[in-house]
Amino acid sequence: MPQRFVIALIKHETNTFSPIETPLERFGHGRGPAFGRDARDAYAGSATPMAAYIDIAVREGAEIVTPVAAEAWPSAACSRATFETLVRPLEAAVRDGCDAVFLDLHGAMVVTDNDDAEGEILARLRAIAPAVPIAVTFDYHTNLSPATVGLANVITGYKTYPHVDMYEAGRQAGEILLASVQGRVKPVMKWGSLALVPSIMRHAPEDGPSGEILAIARAAERRGDVLAATLLPAFAHADTRFTALSAVVVGDAMRRDGAARAQAVCDAMLQVARTRRGEYAYTPTNLAQDVARAHALGRDGPDGPVLLIDHCDNCGSGGTQDVMAVVEEILKQGLDDIAIAPIRDPQAVRMMIAAGTGNNVTLSLGGKTDMPSIGLAGRPLTVSGKVRTITDGEIVFRGPMYTGLKSHLGPTAVLEVTGARGTAQIVVTSLHHEPFDLVIFRHCGIEPTRKRFLMLKSRIHYRAGFKPIASHIVECHGAGVTNADLSVYRYRRLPRPSFPLDP
Ligand SMILES: [Zn+2]
Repeated sequence: MPQRFVIALIKHETNTFSPIETPLERFGHGRGPAFGRDARDAYAGSATPMAAYIDIAVREGAEIVTPVAAEAWPSAACSRATFETLVRPLEAAVRDGCDAVFLDLHGAMVVTDNDDAEGEILARLRAIAPAVPIAVTFDYHTNLSPATVGLANVITGYKTYPHVDMYEAGRQAGEILLASVQGRVKPVMKWGSLALVPSIMRHAPEDGPSGEILAIARAAERRGDVLAATLLPAFAHADTRFTALSAVVVGDAMRRDGAARAQAVCDAMLQVARTRRGEYAYTPTNLAQDVARAHALGRDGPDGPVLLIDHCDNCGSGGTQDVMAVVEEILKQGLDDIAIAPIRDPQAVRMMIAAGTGNNVTLSLGGKTDMPSIGLAGRPLTVSGKVRTITDGEIVFRGPMYTGLKSHLGPTAVLEVTGARGTAQIVVTSLHHEPFDLVIFRHCGIEPTRKRFLMLKSRIHYRAGFKPIASHIVECHGAGVTNADLSVYRYRRLPRPSFPLDP
C-alpha cells in the first residue's frame, strides 16, 4: 500500500504593532490562499520547505495530499474566520487518514484570539490523529511555544538570514520524519528559551552572536551528534507570551545518549546567546547623518551602487511601506541617480496610470497609513515628476531567495523626480512587497547595477539580491512599525523582565 502524506503551508509573520490588516486575500501574496492541487502547483519546484516535502513524497512514491498553501507578507493578526478557512482543509485531510504530516509554518502567527497559532494548528491535528508523525519547519523569526514543541515530532528551521536555505530546512525535517516512519531513527526534541528579544537588525549571522550559535548547530549536525539543531532568535514585533530567543534540537533516541547529546547542544547554543546578549541590542542612528554618509560614499562613482536601507518601515516585517521620512531626506540632500523601491501607494499608482507614461504629475505620495501603536501619523510627501513606466507588477524571483516563485506587486508605476541636484526614480506598487530580488527594479526597466544609489524598504532580506552588487551599505534610521529600537513599542503580553527592554 502506498503511503499517504499530507503536506501543507500556513505562514504569517504577525506584527502585532502593524496597522496593516490581514484579510484572506492577502494570503497567496495578494491572490488568496491555494487549496488542493493548486497548492501543490503554486509551490512545487520552488526554494521552499513545501517544495522539499513534495520532492521527498514523490521520490517515495507516496500519495500526496496538499490541502492548503497560504502565505501572506507580515501584517497585523488575522481574524478567527480567516484562520479557520486555512486550517479546516488541513484538518479534513488528516481526518481522511494519513501516514505522516509535513508542515511549512512560520512560527510567529497570531490570530486575534490566540497568540500561538502554530500551537493551535498542531493541537487540532493531534486531536484528530494522536499518533501521526508530524514534521514542522519554522522561519528563523519564530516565537516558539512549549505547546508546539510538545506536539510536533520533528522541528527544524532556517539557518540563514536572508533566508536562502528554506528548501534545505524542509528537506532536513522531511528526511528525519521519513526515517522515523521507516523505523531508522527515533526523534527526541530538547529545547529552551531565554528572557531575551534580539533586535532583528542584529539577527544576521555576520552581525551578532547568531553566527557563533549557528556554527555550533551546524557542527553538531555534521558530527552526527544530533539530527537537527535550530536557532530561533524570535520575532520582536509580535507581542506574545512566547516572544523570546529559543533553540530546539532533535536528537535520536535510538542512540543510548541521543537525548543527552541533544540537550548538550541546545545548552551550548543558548549559552552563547546569554553571554553575548548585549550584541543583540540595537543602537539608533541619526537619519540626516545616515543619508549624508551614503551621499559622500557615492560621490566618487564607486564600483556599484550605494544602498540606503530604510529598515524601520519594512513591509517584510509588517511595515506600512509608505513612511516617507527616508525618501524626504534623500530628496532634500539631493542624491543624484538614485532608484527607490518600493513605496506602496495604490492611490498614487492609479493617478499615474490616469496620467499615462511620459506625462507629468504632482502626487501626494505615501504617508496614507497611521500607526497608532507607536503614536505615528501618516504624512504624505508632495512630489512632482514624470511617469516613466507602468507595469502589471507580475514578477518571478530569479535571485537566491524564493527562486522560481511567482509574486505580485499589483499595478505598479515608476515616478521620475528631477530636482535641482539630481534625479530619483521611485517604484510605486499597489501591494506590499519587500525588495530582496533585483526583479523589483528590472521588471519596470530600471537596471539596478547601473545606479549610483538604491534606496530599499527592507532590513536584511535585501542582502539576498542586492549585497552582491553593492559598493557600500548604509542603514538609515527612519520611522515605522519595524523600528529596530524596541523601546518604541508598548509590549503587553511579552514576559518581563526581558533583555534589552529591561536592564
Ligand atoms: Zn524570517
